[in-house]
Amino acid sequence: MNGHWRKPLSTTALVGAGALILWPIAGATFALATAAVALAVLLAHHLYNLSAFHRWLLAPRLENLPTGSGLWEQLFSYLARMMRRQAQIEAQLQEALTRFQKAGAALPEAVVILDNDHRIDWCNPKAETYFGLDLDRDRDQQVTYLIRQPTFVEYLRRSDYSLPLNLRVTPAGMTGEAILSIQMVPYGDSETLLLGRDITRWERLETTRRDFVANVSHELRTPLTVLNGFVETLSDMERPDPEMTRRSLLLMSQQCLRMNRLVEDLLTLSRLESSVAPLREETVNVPELVQNLYQDALSLSNGRHEIHLKLTVRSLIRANADEVRSAFGNLVSNAIRYTPEGGKIELHWDMRGDEGMFSVADTGIGIEAHHIDRLTERFYRVDRSRSRETGGTGLGLAIVKHVLSRHQAHLEIVSHPGEGSVFSAVFPAERMEPPAAVAKAPRTGRTASA
Ligand code: ADP
Repeated sequence: MNGHWRKPLSTTALVGAGALILWPIAGATFALATAAVALAVLLAHHLYNLSAFHRWLLAPRLENLPTGSGLWEQLFSYLARMMRRQAQIEAQLQEALTRFQKAGAALPEAVVILDNDHRIDWCNPKAETYFGLDLDRDRDQQVTYLIRQPTFVEYLRRSDYSLPLNLRVTPAGMTGEAILSIQMVPYGDSETLLLGRDITRWERLETTRRDFVANVSHELRTPLTVLNGFVETLSDMERPDPEMTRRSLLLMSQQCLRMNRLVEDLLTLSRLESSVAPLREETVNVPELVQNLYQDALSLSNGRHEIHLKLTVRSLIRANADEVRSAFGNLVSNAIRYTPEGGKIELHWDMRGDEGMFSVADTGIGIEAHHIDRLTERFYRVDRSRSRETGGTGLGLAIVKHVLSRHQAHLEIVSHPGEGSVFSAVFPAERMEPPAAVAKAPRTGRTASA
């Protein structure tokens, strides 16, 4: 017999047995009446507990569970144990769910779970940002109602997910567009995981790379076309005119020099960009280096400008001498190239607080404000033909920027069209070596003119 029945049956049997014992002693009426009263008490006890159980079922909480007595006590304690176990399982499930949601929220990719009808089942916060979704509002909505780009709708319709789809989106709370690489991953019975990876940066780099290749090809093609033209003309002439031949060769040599400069700058830039080796550092005697640059500037200007040298401090820096020379040299050569004859140029080595600052100030053509942020981009020029005429490659300031950033330094540009510019390379305090001697500017600063 089932153990659960034993207790109620044994109580009833006990009442029966009691009545049978009383029967011969106190008579049938008394025995039956006693048994009836005992059974009525038993019934009342069950009804009382049943009603307590019923009341509890209306708001079933563990702490309200009645204690009961007899069989009911056992039953309520089973129930309490079951509820505790249930609560434990629920807590474990909740914890697993919270962990999953946290992992989903931390994912750098947008994740949307779609059912077999492409309705949204779940999505992480990144997906809400990129696609403008709201999980509470959009659950069970068709994804194509919310991501409406025709390319995406078509991609979903074709159901060929072998290649990812690039999608332009406008993320909520961000400025500008982002490019997402969308990947659909079918799983389970008929669900699909929509993954969106932000490839904006990668796409930008790819565009920069394509532009760079196009620019280099263009820059090389121009001198090559000129050279080719001269070679063809000269070879077609039966008796070349000596004067014309001399002039042609001179122009051809200029184009060769131009190509050479371009290739050299490209190599410098590529060395700077690809160098993962730590910087070869030494103590650079900046005053001496600037002094040498000043001499170079004099010969480059060839008397066309008034050039001043101002060494306010004798501070040294911890840096790579070749790279610093090349960066400073580019600033000086730009000042000469973009300053018309008769203009003034000043080379200045100074301290600004605890930072070291090399500035080149000129009274040249100046630059309009909207160009300034882009000047350090490769091949960015304000005036392409002027840059070419003066032998520019369009890479000088890109080199300067790279060199400075490798030294945790930066470039500052202040310029006014028609008035001139000041380009300053600013080195952080950590790069500075104790000043050898401080001279007061401008009284004791060395000033020279050409
Ligand atoms: P480039 O070889 O053309 O001079 P750079 O990278 O050195 O290339 O400079 C980029 C552009 O910045 C130049 O084409 C020019 O338009 C502008 N620029 C640089 N230095 C000066 C300056 N001192 N004065 C005016 N414009 C300048």
